[in-house]
Amino acid sequence: MKTDVLIVGCGCSGLYAALQLDEDLDITILTKSKAEDSDSFLAQGGICVLKDESDYQAYFEDTLKAGHYENDKQSVDIMIRSSQNVIQDLISYGVDFHKDENGKLDYTREGAHSQKRILFHEDETGKEITKHLLAKVRQLKNVKLLEYTTLVDLIEKDNTCYGGVIRKADGSIDMIQAKYTMLATGGIGGVYRHSTNYRHLTGDGIALAVQHKIALKNVNYVQIHPTTFYSPDEKDRSFLISESVRGEGALLLDKNMHRFVNELLPRDVVTKAIYAQMEKDHTTHVWEDLRPIGHEELVKHFPHIVEHCHKMGYDPEKEPIPVVPAQHYFMGGIDVNKESKTSMEHLYAIGETACNGVHGKNRLASNSLLESLVFAKRAAKDLMDSDWKAQDFITIEKPDVSKYADSKSLSQQYRQLVQTEIKKADSKKENENV
Ligand SMILES: Cc1cc2nc3c(=O)[nH]c(=O)nc-3n(C[C@H](O)[C@H](O)[C@H](O)COP(=O)(O)OP(=O)(O)OC[C@H]3O[C@@H](n4cnc5c(N)ncnc54)[C@H](O)[C@@H]3O)c2cc1C
Repeated sequence: MKTDVLIVGCGCSGLYAALQLDEDLDITILTKSKAEDSDSFLAQGGICVLKDESDYQAYFEDTLKAGHYENDKQSVDIMIRSSQNVIQDLISYGVDFHKDENGKLDYTREGAHSQKRILFHEDETGKEITKHLLAKVRQLKNVKLLEYTTLVDLIEKDNTCYGGVIRKADGSIDMIQAKYTMLATGGIGGVYRHSTNYRHLTGDGIALAVQHKIALKNVNYVQIHPTTFYSPDEKDRSFLISESVRGEGALLLDKNMHRFVNELLPRDVVTKAIYAQMEKDHTTHVWEDLRPIGHEELVKHFPHIVEHCHKMGYDPEKEPIPVVPAQHYFMGGIDVNKESKTSMEHLYAIGETACNGVHGKNRLASNSLLESLVFAKRAAKDLMDSDWKAQDFITIEKPDVSKYADSKSLSQQYRQLVQTEIKKADSKKENENV
C-alpha cells in the first residue's frame, strides 16, 4: 500500500491533523481498535481557551505554576494564542459548547485555574469534540480510515521514515509506504494496573521511538489523577471523577469525613495529599462529597458521573463517593519542535504521545485537548509547506514478517520498553538530585 500521509491514531490529534491537510493528499489513518475507542472520547471536563486578552497573563501563569515552571514558555504561548482559532474551527464543525442564558459561551473552572476559562459540553466534552471530528473525516474522499489495524514498526532508512509495518484486522502483516508519517498514538495508561486510559493505549509510539533511537523527552513525567471512582474489583479502566466537580464545589474527606486538603490545588499536590491521608488512615480510598455542588448543577453539568455513581450503588446527592488516584496522563513523550517534527526526518508526533514542553512537569486541567489540536494543526501546516509533491516513494524491501508474528509477545516487549525507559529516566533524575 502507498499513501502520501500515514496518520497513526484517530483520537482528536490524528483526526484534526487529517482535516487540516489539503484534500489533494492521499491520507491513511490507522487505529488499533474501533474509531471511537480513544481517550479523546473520554475527556470529561473541557477544553481551555483564552477568553480575552485580559486573561492571557493569568492563563500563562496558571499553566506554568501547575507545570512546576518546567514548561517550554514558547510552546505555552503558542497554545494560548492559537486557542481561539482552534475553538472557532470546532464550532464550525458543529461542536456544541455549553452556553449561558443569553446564548453566549459559558465557562467552568478546574483545579489550579485562577479563572473560569474552560469550555464544556456536559461532562462529555471529549466525545462532543471528537465525534464531530470523526464525522468530518469520514466525509473526506481522500482519507482511508483502517480500524483494528496496528502499527507494529516504522519503515526507516538513514533516519528518515518511509511509513510503517502494520498488523491488519485479520492478523496478517503488511506495510504501508508513506511520504510522511504522523504518530498520534496517545498515552501510556495501558501499561499501568490502574489508569483512566483505554487499555489498548500502551505507548506504542514511545516503544517504536526507543527502538529507532528517536529522541524522547521527560518520559518519567506521568500524571496521576487524584480522583477516580474506587471499586475493589475493578478490571477495566478506572472511571474518572472530573476535576471540574471540585471546581464547582465538591470536597475531599478522610475516613472521619473531615476535609484534609485544599481541593483546588494542582493535581500532583492533591494526589500526594490523598496518598498521605490513605496511609495515615490505613484505607484504600478517600471520600468525595458532591453535595455542595447542588442538585441543579450536578444533574445538568455532570449527568454521566451521577449515572456512574448510581450504577456503582452510590447516590451522590445523598452521600460521599469513594475515590482513589490513578494514572491519567503522560506529560513526556517523543521530543518535538514547535512544528511537531521529531528527530527523524519525515516523522511528526502529535497529541499525548508527543512532548513539546507545554505541560512541564504536571499538566494543568483541560490543557491537553487544546495542546493536541493546536500542535496537530501546526504539524499539518508544516507538512503542507514542505515539498511533499516532489517526493517520490523509494524502493523498500519486504519486512521480515516472522519478527511480528507473535502479537502477544511483541506487545509485551513494547510495554517493557516503555516501562524501562520511564525507570531509566526516573533513576537519572534521582542521581542528578543526589
Ligand atoms: C478519562 C479521561 C478524561 C480526560 N479529560 C480531559 C479533559 O477534560 N480535558 C482535556 O483537555 N483532556 C482530558 N483528558 C486527556 C485527553 O483526553 C487526551 O490527552 C487526548 O484526548 C489525547 O488525544 P490523542 O489524539 O493524543 O490520543 P487518543 O485520543 O488517546 O487516541 C490515540 C489513538 O491512537 C491509536 N493507537 C495507539 N497505538 C496504536 C498503534 N500501535 N497502531 C494504530 N493505532 C494506535 C488508538 O487506537 C487511538 O485511536 C482526559 C483523558 C482521560 C483518559
